[in-house]
Order: sequence, then structure tokens, then C-alpha cells
Amino acid sequence: MLDGEAVLAKARELGALDAVIIPTSSIVVAHWVRLKCQYGCPDYGKWKTCPPYSPDPDTTSKVLAEYEKALLMKSTSHTEATNLAVSMMFWLYSQGIFKAFPMGSGRCYLCEECDPLNCRHPDKAYPSMEACGIDVVSTVKNAGWDNGPLEGGKYPHFCMVLLW
Ligand code: SF4
Repeated sequence: MLDGEAVLAKARELGALDAVIIPTSSIVVAHWVRLKCQYGCPDYGKWKTCPPYSPDPDTTSKVLAEYEKALLMKSTSHTEATNLAVSMMFWLYSQGIFKAFPMGSGRCYLCEECDPLNCRHPDKAYPSMEACGIDVVSTVKNAGWDNGPLEGGKYPHFCMVLLW
């Protein structure tokens, strides 16, 4: 079994500003998160990685019940965060962690316009934590982090990989 320290070291090597392994029981899933996507977000229905295409909160809760641990990571942008989670997933798979599943941040930024039913990059397009109904702020707080600005004033973006 891969050691947790090796996972954290790889996350930092791939560019994570910070990384921690958390119990999946500390991940908060809520139906109101889905409502925030459906009402008030211009991306709803436009991207394969967003609702209504992404897993709904009930599905996410069932999936989380199949894992004990997740890797939570801090990054500098939506794109960096999603790339980081996907890169970690490929590395974990190469290390025998075949269940690893990444969740990024924000919508997919790989194409100017999305074709949700005919994705051009299915190997890289993964849903964000929030698109799966995860309350990111509460989950980050449960990990002992805050979501305040980084040095320089930019706000952090968070991503996750379900591990085992
Ligand atoms: S890769 Fe392109 S087609 Fe696929 S989800 Fe992202 S934006 Fe949509």
C-alpha cells in the first residue's frame, strides 16, 4: 500500500501549495450546493463537468462511502487545481491506487465551448468538488485550513483526489 507521506510529497512536487490526507467522513456534501450551481451560476448546463451532468449530491455521498481517505490540495487557480488533481490521479493509478478519482475546481477550461455529450478531452475533463455537491468551505475548515487569501492577495482554489 502506498504510504501517505509519499502521496503528500508527490502532491507538492506536482505543484500543490499545501496538501493533506483527510477522512472522507469530514467531507461535507449538501443539496444547497447544487442549488447554487442551478441558480446564479452562468455555467449551469453548459459544461460536461458541471450540473446537471456532474454527479448529484446523493450519488456523491454514495461514492464517498466507498472510500476512507481523500487527498485535499490547495492551488492558485481553477485550471491549476484541476490539472493537479488529474495529474495526481494518473500518478496514483501508476502506483496501484486504481480507485483514485479526481475532483477539480470550477468549470472545465479546456475548450472555448463545451460539447457535453461529445467531450473532446475525456481523459482530462473531471468535475469540480462543488459540481459534485461538496461544500468546499466547510470541508476545508474541517481539514484545519482557512480559505482566506494567499500571500499576494489571491484566493486559493481547492481540489481533491479520492484515494482508498
Ligand atoms: S474538454 Fe471540452 S468538451 Fe470536454 S468537458 Fe471540457 S470543455 Fe467540455
